[in-house]
Amino acid sequence: KIPLPRNLYAPERRNSPGVEFGDAASLKQLLADIAEAKPVYSAHSIIDGKERTATRRPVLAPATGEAIGEVSDADEAVARDAMAAAQGGFARWSATLIEKRAQMLDRAGDLLEQRRGTFIALLQSEGGKTLDDCVAEWREAIDYCRYYALQARRSLAPQAMPGPTGETNELRYRGRGVFVCISPWNFPLAIFLGQVTAALAAGNSVVAKPAEQTPLIAYAAVRLLHEAGIPTSALQLVTGDGVAGGALVDDSRVAGVAFTGSTEVARIINRTLAQKDGPIVPFVAETGGVNAMIVDATALPEQVTDDVVSSVFRSAGQRCSALRLLCVQEHVADHVFKMVEGAARELTLGNPSQPSTHVGPVIDTESKERLDRWIDSHASRVRYRWDSDHTLPSRGLFVPPTIIELPRASDLKEEVFGPILHVVRWRAHELPQLLDDIESNGTGLTLGIHSRIDARVMQIADRLSNGNVYVNRNMIGAVVGTQPFGGTRLSGTGPKAGGPNYLRRFATEQVVTVNT
Ligand code: GLU
Repeated sequence: KIPLPRNLYAPERRNSPGVEFGDAASLKQLLADIAEAKPVYSAHSIIDGKERTATRRPVLAPATGEAIGEVSDADEAVARDAMAAAQGGFARWSATLIEKRAQMLDRAGDLLEQRRGTFIALLQSEGGKTLDDCVAEWREAIDYCRYYALQARRSLAPQAMPGPTGETNELRYRGRGVFVCISPWNFPLAIFLGQVTAALAAGNSVVAKPAEQTPLIAYAAVRLLHEAGIPTSALQLVTGDGVAGGALVDDSRVAGVAFTGSTEVARIINRTLAQKDGPIVPFVAETGGVNAMIVDATALPEQVTDDVVSSVFRSAGQRCSALRLLCVQEHVADHVFKMVEGAARELTLGNPSQPSTHVGPVIDTESKERLDRWIDSHASRVRYRWDSDHTLPSRGLFVPPTIIELPRASDLKEEVFGPILHVVRWRAHELPQLLDDIESNGTGLTLGIHSRIDARVMQIADRLSNGNVYVNRNMIGAVVGTQPFGGTRLSGTGPKAGGPNYLRRFATEQVVTVNT
């Protein structure tokens, strides 16, 4: 028997198994773990392992509006001190063997697995996430730790380069210096840890600046990484708002920035990096998208309905991968729209602590007001509003799942970050124009296609440049190491998170040639 060659892209690594919700005992144990969790009530910057307090502000739970803790908003001085501390920690951390760094990340994954109650409780209260979204995110966070540990061993290992006799040539990957990691509130654990573990795995010291809405989870995650062995000098936390983020990016000691958030903020960071003193540094940005799904007349309507509902309404639409624009071929459009509306009517909206809740709150008042305004300004085009036949909870930041019909795909140019679906119709001869219209929004993140005509699927995928294309399934929930995630054009710079090429962007290359 001839052994099969090892496939480098199918590593000996398993994704975290998660929880079987259909099994009563597993669900009961999960709920018990959450109930017994030791929550975190305050988040402050952590500089060289010590808390640094500053002006305090309450942290609000989106589902109830109640304060669940407090956070210190760092000012420029705190940001500068964090940069200095990280710079002080760089030499030791970058000299730490890759294998040792990887072992610490594996250990972080193990600790996260053991502490699921704490992290899931925080994702629910601070992040306002439903139980299945919490579990999915907790799994993703574990996967990032372990995947980047594996990729550090694999893709950052020194390589002997071929050359003439009489000399050796070795290519090695080294940390760049201080990486600033700025993460979003919609994946406050997974994306926060994904950025930080990647930067650390590649040998950088890190200053992490989590979103202002979700500092408690970030604080708990940083403490966990320190416990897993990451030196306190190699990882600093700065809690606060854009003031702190701006000061970090503007610092001349920055060796690179990883950012996930809006295109608008990515542009500001990019401009700041270009204009300040100091080295020219890499910028790894992952931003939003006006994501479309194209459905033709050969698609299976039941499957389309299921995939549309999860792609739009899970996480209350607050994923950058979420479906925003459903484009259905004319002669099945009414049928599909009616089915999607019927399924939306069946959604349960409410407190995310209830396992039966499908749609939780949106993150903050600003977000709710923006989304409510969007719905109001499109009132004449609304096909369906959840609150036309249900009552919205009296407290908390809830936005009704809503479906709006637009004349053309080109009418949607901005990312509407909530549980709102836009729909359009197209006729067979209009497909090329539809693809042009979709492209005209300038983004390139996720794309859904539902069709049983292979040639059409490829025609669409070839014409558009989206980073993640999902065919005959939903278009959210990219799995680490399976669907490397990230877009093109206005949606981000690449490389893809959770993919084999991510870590090298965080490293610098050095070739050592020795005349022997
Ligand atoms: N990776 C996530 C997904 O596929 C989305 C990440 C984001 O929203 O930033 O659903």
